[in-house]
Amino acid sequence: MEGRDIFITGTDTGVGKTVATLVLGTLLQGKGYNVGVMKPVQCGGDDAAFLKKSLRLSDSLLEINPCFAREPLSPHLAFQRERRTVDVEKILAAYERLKHKHDIVLVEGAGGLMVPLRYDYFVADLIRDLDLELIIVARLGLGTINHTLLTIEQARAQGIAVRGVLFSEASPRKHGIPQATLQGLPEKTNPQAVRTLGNVEVLGTIPYLKSLRRKEIVCRCAATVDLKRLFEPSAGLSNARQKQLVAWDKKHVWHPFTQMKDWLTDEPLVIDRARGSYLIDTKGNRYLDGVSSLWVNVHGHGHRIVNARVREQLNKLEHSTLLGLSNAPSVELARKLTAIAPKGLTKVFYSDNGSTAVEAALKIAYQYWQNTGRKRKKYIAHLANSYHGDTLGSVSVGGIELFHKVYRNLIFKTIRVDFPDCYRAPKGKKYPDYAFECLDRFDAMLKKKHGQIAAFVVEPIVQGAAGMIMWPKGILKRMSELCRHYEIIFIADEVATGFGRTGTMFACEHEGVSPDILCLAKGITAGYLPLAATLTTKRIFDGFCFDYKDQKTFFHGHTYTGNPLACAAALANLDVFKKERTLARLAPKINFLSQGLKMFYNLPHVGDVRQRGFMAGIELVRDRQTQDPYPWQEKIGARVCREVRKHGVILRPLGNVIVLMPPLSMTIEELGRLLDVTYWAIDKVTGSG
Ligand SMILES: *Cc1c(COP(=O)(O)O)cnc(C)c1O
Repeated sequence: MEGRDIFITGTDTGVGKTVATLVLGTLLQGKGYNVGVMKPVQCGGDDAAFLKKSLRLSDSLLEINPCFAREPLSPHLAFQRERRTVDVEKILAAYERLKHKHDIVLVEGAGGLMVPLRYDYFVADLIRDLDLELIIVARLGLGTINHTLLTIEQARAQGIAVRGVLFSEASPRKHGIPQATLQGLPEKTNPQAVRTLGNVEVLGTIPYLKSLRRKEIVCRCAATVDLKRLFEPSAGLSNARQKQLVAWDKKHVWHPFTQMKDWLTDEPLVIDRARGSYLIDTKGNRYLDGVSSLWVNVHGHGHRIVNARVREQLNKLEHSTLLGLSNAPSVELARKLTAIAPKGLTKVFYSDNGSTAVEAALKIAYQYWQNTGRKRKKYIAHLANSYHGDTLGSVSVGGIELFHKVYRNLIFKTIRVDFPDCYRAPKGKKYPDYAFECLDRFDAMLKKKHGQIAAFVVEPIVQGAAGMIMWPKGILKRMSELCRHYEIIFIADEVATGFGRTGTMFACEHEGVSPDILCLAKGITAGYLPLAATLTTKRIFDGFCFDYKDQKTFFHGHTYTGNPLACAAALANLDVFKKERTLARLAPKINFLSQGLKMFYNLPHVGDVRQRGFMAGIELVRDRQTQDPYPWQEKIGARVCREVRKHGVILRPLGNVIVLMPPLSMTIEELGRLLDVTYWAIDKVTGSG
């Protein structure tokens, strides 16, 4: 039962966590639930065995308590003294097993949230890794408000949802206290104060129990602990609020790439929260984020490290300009980006989205030749079917007819280069001959026109928005070599492919290509904030370093250039790549995806399945033999995406191509579900007959 399990922590050690776990377990068993209990880390004592016996659990002690150290010390120390460390993977695996065996698993922590399990890992980290919501057990008395509010604040700061506070009376109530004394007053008023000050649910009070026998627990606690409140699924917004948001959206919001006439008659999905691979709507429904919130999310939503880094930066400096000033996060990020980028890229120009990253690249390339005296070099070459963004400069070098034809009279003249599309080659053309033919024509064109060409811009390895079109091997390398030979600035637009998407940090790495200019955006901030970077070589940079009076400055810049919050998110993004070994762990998942995608050829209307890393496209056709496409009016892609939504998956197509582009952090299990639901939806919508 997804989302039911809870983690039980205390405001301190010895506040009655184990009793609270026992009470909750007993009461839930009384309601007919199959309850599981876990005590992941235990140092000294026999809490796990006690819970196993009292709740008559059949799970092995090792499953209930995977990490045990003998001495009653803080875990980081107790384990260190036995020359061991707490094994988080073992805990996660044990939890997975228990989760499948029980309706509800109660996971009892060790001490409070900031108890170190290792020198680099706290109880709070474990709660996040288990992806559980929290119940805080607090004793009643003087000091309770402070301890409880601190725990709540720390939990929220770490992105852990607090389901409620459960109070526990550790000692018997003293009867016969004269009314005049203040004793007993904190006990009476604590719950209300915590509820108000902490803006949190209070789940009740466990009275002092003389014995921990089942009968006494049920008798004394059933009325004082609010189980219903405890297990209400994390509710969405109120009905009225949901309706209001939809109405205001329709009244005021103009959605991108959307026919608003359709939108206004539709029932829009409003996202309220997100966690890991899931988006959660205002009604509380969960959806697997199958396209990484339009290709940006990298490590999952609400990532602990990224959240913390952005929050930390927020407390320091939210924004200051790079026009005439500098700031620490943008400096550090520039240094780190140039360290991981392909060789030779040592300068970073910031902007705030993919289109402006390309826009800046084009202007830099153009002006470079103007500045250095080769004034005839003023055309930009680009690939047919390319997509580089929606501002006029980037639209000029785009080749997707549907997006671009309206603006034909506004855009500048370019040179269009044929791309050897493996699936949709012109009639009568075959592989690999056609690829060589394209290269030969490119070579011949450059030979003739290189004196007029400033730059050549490509999306390396995968042409994303064109429909996940994959480059045949070797073409990128050869094209970059030809550009070098003919003195043409080679611009790699890795807005979509950057940051691990294709299995390597940057797609250029697949063919050992070092572009003169590299455009980055989308995944740069792990999907948190708008930021883009245009990286160049020193040689290009030097083409702008002249005397002030020469007027050869790069006259370009956006107001939010180098925003510190966005740069902090980007720095955290790179940290997570390292800490979680994201790329190494991606390899088997890419494999799993490839295997799963093969199945789609069983569906008769799947014409082509294309994949590179975590970028995949499934092209639907009316006739597989003739490759006859579905007419665009049929909106076949959109219909499939509507269908998957009913089964808790969010996708967005590119015409007749179903795109799968999950966050790099998506688990094998979630990938399996993504594939299953997509397969089923295509089968349903295409009628497979
Ligand atoms: C998305 C994309 C862009 C445009 O980025 P925006 O942030 O939407 O402006 C440019 N180039 C490529 C390859 C893209 O995929």
